[in-house]
Amino acid sequence: MSSDDLNKRAFISTVMVGPCPRCGSQNTHDCFYDEEERHPEFGECPLIKAIDDPIVGHCEECDSVFCIECAKVIARSERSLSNIARLAEGHSKSCPELKPQRWAEKYGSTHRLVSVQDDMVTITEHAEERIPDGTEEDEGDEKTITLRLSKEAGITSEKLRKKIGYYLKFSYDADEIHAVADLDSDDDDDVSDTSPP
Ligand SMILES: [Zn+2]
Ligand SMILES: [Zn+2]
Ligand SMILES: [Zn+2]
Repeated sequence: MSSDDLNKRAFISTVMVGPCPRCGSQNTHDCFYDEEERHPEFGECPLIKAIDDPIVGHCEECDSVFCIECAKVIARSERSLSNIARLAEGHSKSCPELKPQRWAEKYGSTHRLVSVQDDMVTITEHAEERIPDGTEEDEGDEKTITLRLSKEAGITSEKLRKKIGYYLKFSYDADEIHAVADLDSDDDDDVSDTSPP
């Protein structure tokens, strides 16, 4: 695991869960499962492992499962674990507060942006770790994939076009890019808004 990942994890685990949006109790915890850093006080809660999502909270008082980002109650835990996990996953993919950029920062992989054609975006197929240093032209036979840019990706194709050649973080599935984020937000942990001027 790179030190970047460790930093992100440390950041995530210190995010305040906050009170339960349903009953107001402070007896809450996030449902992010981390082998190395358990929550000893909530070690028994089965929802942590079942949900494994840093933006999902659980209230031990009223048993609500809620979104830490937008404070929406996602489920009550009388439902089955797999049911709750599915609901939570569905919410965290569509949460209005979890900006697409933040999603990409947390979960995206790094690819070089090759070209933008309307809403079709071509990126290098394999995730890269290195950041371009300005000396270019070692590409050539690199494999690329072309995906549709989602309307919810938080960036327009016009803006994206200015970043051709750069490495960015992308979150995508088989045919659509859900989120794009810049790489350079590692130094400040203030992810609330890192959009360039
Ligand atoms: Zn719990
Ligand atoms: Zn509660
Ligand atoms: Zn939410």
